[in-house]
Amino acid sequence: MRKKLVAGNWKMHGSLAENAALLAAIKPALAGIEAAVCVPFPYLAQAQAALAGSSIAWGAQNLSEQPKGAFTGEVSAAMLLDFGCKYVIVGHSERRSLYGERDEIVAKKYMAAQAAGLTPILCVGESLQERESGVTEAVVARQLDAVIQAAGVGSLGKAVVAYEPVWAIGTGKTATPEQAQAVHAFIRGKIAALDGAVADGLVIQYGGSVKAANAAELMAQPDIDGGLIGGASLVADEFIAICRAA
Ligand code: PGA
Repeated sequence: MRKKLVAGNWKMHGSLAENAALLAAIKPALAGIEAAVCVPFPYLAQAQAALAGSSIAWGAQNLSEQPKGAFTGEVSAAMLLDFGCKYVIVGHSERRSLYGERDEIVAKKYMAAQAAGLTPILCVGESLQERESGVTEAVVARQLDAVIQAAGVGSLGKAVVAYEPVWAIGTGKTATPEQAQAVHAFIRGKIAALDGAVADGLVIQYGGSVKAANAAELMAQPDIDGGLIGGASLVADEFIAICRAA
């Protein structure tokens, strides 16, 4: 039986004061429930101090593919580990579309994360135009293949995949449970063709306008193993309800 994992993606939101209130609200409410929050780099120490010893893990939203050196503005996997991170999001569609991260760089970041002992949350998903032109599966397959070719299918045994249709992110348009389940089943089936055990154990999160109101029916799908939550992860009651629904 796969466990479910809900992770918050705070994106570029928050302040010391806002985070303190949010963390203080979610920590007791989620006692004993495995969850995670992926916070902006400057707040990693705050998340670590607030969440250490709880069932909520913390992580980052990006990392450098390089181990160290003259890379101004970058943050390495080892630095994330220094602050107790368990997870790091790689290949989020905002990184792909706004910062030009191509499949090859996403694969390098994924490998850098794993090499340091972090669990990458690998985001995949199609744009609206891609969905409408019927290439959803081809796009998701290409994004997965970049990682499988670089790191091997076995590497997915130490990763989480998040299926996030780009047209559903921050738009209020959630994929229907059936639409999401279809792509999740495709992802698991594609991996099962290479390694059945890895496919069975792989946590595949859904992301894109998940809220308390739609979480339960998404999480009830057989191949949906939790969620990657943007906007709703900033609202304590919403995030708590989504984690409980999973
Ligand atoms: P959203 O974002 O929940 O605000 O749609 C999800 C994400 O981008 O991870």
